[in-house]
Amino acid sequence: MIITPKFRGFICTTSHPVGCEYNVRQQVEYVKKQKKINGAKKVLVIGASTGYGLSSRIAAAFGCGAATIGLFFEKPASGNRTASAGWYNSAAFEKIAKEEGIYAKSINGDAFSNEIKQQTIELIKKDLGKVDLVIYSLASPRRTHPDTGEIFNSVIKPIGPAYTSKTVNFHTGKVENITIESANEDEIRQTVAVMGGEDWDMWMDALKKADVLAENAITLAYSYVGPEMTHAVYREGTIGRAKDDLEATAYKITDKLKDIGGKAYVSINKAVVTQASAAIPVISLYVSILFKIMKSKNTHEGCIEQMYRMLEDRVYSGDMKLDSKGRICMDDWEMAKDVQAEVAKVWDKANDDNINDISDVEGYRTEFFKLFGFGFDAVEYSEDVDIEVMVESIK
Ligand code: NAD
Repeated sequence: MIITPKFRGFICTTSHPVGCEYNVRQQVEYVKKQKKINGAKKVLVIGASTGYGLSSRIAAAFGCGAATIGLFFEKPASGNRTASAGWYNSAAFEKIAKEEGIYAKSINGDAFSNEIKQQTIELIKKDLGKVDLVIYSLASPRRTHPDTGEIFNSVIKPIGPAYTSKTVNFHTGKVENITIESANEDEIRQTVAVMGGEDWDMWMDALKKADVLAENAITLAYSYVGPEMTHAVYREGTIGRAKDDLEATAYKITDKLKDIGGKAYVSINKAVVTQASAAIPVISLYVSILFKIMKSKNTHEGCIEQMYRMLEDRVYSGDMKLDSKGRICMDDWEMAKDVQAEVAKVWDKANDDNINDISDVEGYRTEFFKLFGFGFDAVEYSEDVDIEVMVESIK
């Protein structure tokens, strides 16, 4: 089949297996060129197929030489529908790991469920014995509670007054104003239930109870802070409440892991283009401006550069360089004073006429396409490709 990108709103409904493999190979090549990390050896990545989770898995496998079990919720191809990008990414990851003699197995299913937690524990017991690093990198719009069956939906809304801001439609390059109505108490509660720390805590409880955590095991989850101009919709909005809860959960988990010397940390990562971040209004304009400024200063990073640096320079460096709230700050270059001062200046003057000159909206668009395996010069998109690709460890 010849595959072209097809869009519904800000979602791409097709993905390209060869392009996704190319993307994963590029990330692997980046890590292989860096210094080896004396770090994790057996790793579980929850949310391992795209974005930060995929890059964490690649950095652990090819930077530390770690065996990885990756868990995700993706769709294989069916009829003439392509698989989801995360499916093709994971197929490629396993293929490359095998070429390099590195253990990699995957589980496709709902990480929020008790069944998948159990299935993962059984696989760890059978193949790895114990894990020394657990990365929790889920981004989901909904969660079914495993005990009560309640279905929670997350929303991205301000708390307090309605919020009006500029944003950019990165497909058309149009700068427009949007107004987002404020969240009610139940929407806040549901967003915290989806993106807060409860499920991370349940995972760590289950892993500990099953005795599959190694002595001094580390667990990491990811958060974001960002600049003032996005606070109303992000850090001080519903998703920010969920992140507050996630960050507080790190302390709770560390407490529970005391007897095995385990520790839980939250890493504040930089704003990047992923399927999850593309769904957040306002962020597209901020990221387009930020990319241009960080590229001009040579401090721009994508997921793979961030995740390699996090493992090499923080988690396994002997100095995590934690902030006053005990968090790993991978957003240090994004939040640098000079970068943010320039972003604020550009933000004020951004409009339809100047957006292509003052921001990297084109770079945003290109990154977005790449998430689905499109837009790589090295890939021949006019060629017929087989859309049915197996993730080797998933039967
Ligand atoms: P993403 O959409 O690229 O990845 C989400 C992952 O979660 C995928 O592997 C997906 O398969 C998996 N997933 C979703 N629902 C699942 C379920 N029910 N069961 C199993 N797997 C499921 O997202 P991302 O942007 O990489 O986000 C990962 C984390 O990083 C989030 O906590 C996010 O808030 C944080 N973060 C993102 C940014 C950013 O700019 N993208 C910045 C800082 C922090």
